[in-house]
Amino acid sequence: MALDRNLLFYFVRDALAPYSENFRIIDRQNPVQMTLNDAHYSAHVSYVHDSGNARDNDDEVRIQLGRGIIEEQRARQARGDRVAFIGFFDTGDTFVAWDPRHVFSLQARTVVSVYARQSQRVSVSTQQAAVHQFMARQLGEQSFAIALPASALGFYLENVEHFHALRSEHAIVNLVGRHTETFADAGLGASGEIEVDEAGEREKFTFERTAYPRDPRFKKWVLEAYGQTCCVCDRQLAIVQAAHIIPHSVEGSPNHVTNGLALCIEHHRLYDDALLLPGPGYRLVFNTDRAEYLRQTNQDKGIGEIRNLHERPFAVPTDPARRPRNDYLQRGLDIRMGA
Ligand SMILES: [Zn+2]
Repeated sequence: MALDRNLLFYFVRDALAPYSENFRIIDRQNPVQMTLNDAHYSAHVSYVHDSGNARDNDDEVRIQLGRGIIEEQRARQARGDRVAFIGFFDTGDTFVAWDPRHVFSLQARTVVSVYARQSQRVSVSTQQAAVHQFMARQLGEQSFAIALPASALGFYLENVEHFHALRSEHAIVNLVGRHTETFADAGLGASGEIEVDEAGEREKFTFERTAYPRDPRFKKWVLEAYGQTCCVCDRQLAIVQAAHIIPHSVEGSPNHVTNGLALCIEHHRLYDDALLLPGPGYRLVFNTDRAEYLRQTNQDKGIGEIRNLHERPFAVPTDPARRPRNDYLQRGLDIRMGA
């Protein structure tokens, strides 16, 4: 089952949130506007689908781009945004990216198509990257539709131009493999460069997986205020953490107990995933939008008990001076539900 178009930004969010804490979706409508490591991105996101050209090539898939989207992307690029044209395969685990230069070179009054191959998805599952090479006539050069795992989206976005400068699938497969290793070894907070030097090609790639430093006092203050107890489920069990209400990644998010909540690992994760959120008035908010995304992507087993918590009160410290501020709860809700 394919996801509703208006929920497609969740593919982007779920790919980028683990990549860097310095990430925010600004506008979830297509093209999705976001910041990643302080750079502005505008990504057109849609599904790849059969091109309807089965007679000639039943492996062919494509995305279609309206003239309006292309012009909007061109304008955003002129303003300094980095732009990308992304097509996800239906489960969201693999995407194809086209060179923006190629898209901008296409001439069409209404809708244009850019193409890839269904079989690229299979290749990504075995070798992490796969290209479909074609002649970009208006550019007068060969161009690549590059298929990558969703986990490489951040790395791709940070290096769009360099990715499309590479001229061999082998170089891209190697590059993404090296990045994945670094990703697995170093985790959040790692940054660096990966240089590709292959068959006369030299390109430098960067990755920046920002992790903001934590103030250890914040954790102490919050856990003390709540008696080391999850404010949603009343459990202790040494699985309780301190969470920021206005996300830690938002500039100016206070390291004050009134911007904190004590949450068990499970409820912390559901908060970060914006499924169940402590909201203003000390009531829980169940995010039906996120639930719909999980349902449509077959990830919603067990959601019933979480849905039942909607509007239920959550616990706050007895000391009024240490309770969460309502304006923080509202702002945190807006930021987290918006993305
Ligand atoms: Zn809990």
